[in-house]
Amino acid sequence: MRIVETKAQVRAQVRRWRDAGEKVTLVPTMGALHQAHVNLVRLAQRSGRAAVSIFVNPTQFAPGEDFERYPRDLEADAALLRRAGADLMFAPATEEVYPRGLGDLTRVETPGLSAELCGARRPAHFAGVTSVVARLLLITLPDAVIFGRKDYQQLVILRRMVEDLHIPVEVVEGPITREEDGLAMSSRNRYLSSGERRVAPRLNAVLLECAERLRDGERDFARLERDAAARLERNGFVPDYVAVRRAGDLGLPSASEPCAWVVLAAAWLGAARLIDNVACSPPPGEPIA
Ligand code: AMP
Repeated sequence: MRIVETKAQVRAQVRRWRDAGEKVTLVPTMGALHQAHVNLVRLAQRSGRAAVSIFVNPTQFAPGEDFERYPRDLEADAALLRRAGADLMFAPATEEVYPRGLGDLTRVETPGLSAELCGARRPAHFAGVTSVVARLLLITLPDAVIFGRKDYQQLVILRRMVEDLHIPVEVVEGPITREEDGLAMSSRNRYLSSGERRVAPRLNAVLLECAERLRDGERDFARLERDAAARLERNGFVPDYVAVRRAGDLGLPSASEPCAWVVLAAAWLGAARLIDNVACSPPPGEPIA
């Protein structure tokens, strides 16, 4: 596996592969890699070369969030990627991504959806994500990019950004990788105490129950959301939100028009803010809008 730090190096390597007829897929990450990232790398490898970027993006953290203490261990990340069989690791310094500093940045924003759900509590977060992912795509110029479904709102926003800006890259979704007890893998799970770690899978359990009630015909979305939030609170979480949305665009669902749904939640458990989501479709035979 090749490790590069500059825009010129990564672009030249990606171009060489593409010129040789090989498909290159980028997996953008913030490092602190775990099995979920390995699975995304394997997905990338299935169609050719897998390039992984590691960059803890300062512009997506608000003051007081965990930018400073976000886990960083480039050596461990490189070792994991080597074992996973990645072809390229791109670990740029902040100046490489933001050559003119962090003030007065050229920004990419996706209004509307970026202010909802996770964006309601983290108003500048998704503008930071879109602004950095646009840069990473334009720096590396890959054929395809993989985003995990674990960060479902981020996936929908980035897909929209790629479409709206006509960025010539294929967006691929990576399925959620979970621990055996259902907890979605996340670099932030290491903020959990051992007691909290035992409770954490309840988040997934509550979302699954919500999805089952949807499938069973419950169409009072507000009640489902209230019940799920109350269950989370009873288990010691402090929920930011639980929401039933249309899976395609995260719009508000209508009780009279069944569609593919997604149930999403963000909840604090101690010092960790956990997010998760579960996809859900109406029972077979019910028409889908
Ligand atoms: P991050 O972990 O924030 O650096 O995210 C890097 C990429 O990995 C993003 O596309 C995430 O959606 C994805 N990702 C992180 N955890 C998971 C998981 N448990 N399952 C699937 N994708 C994930």
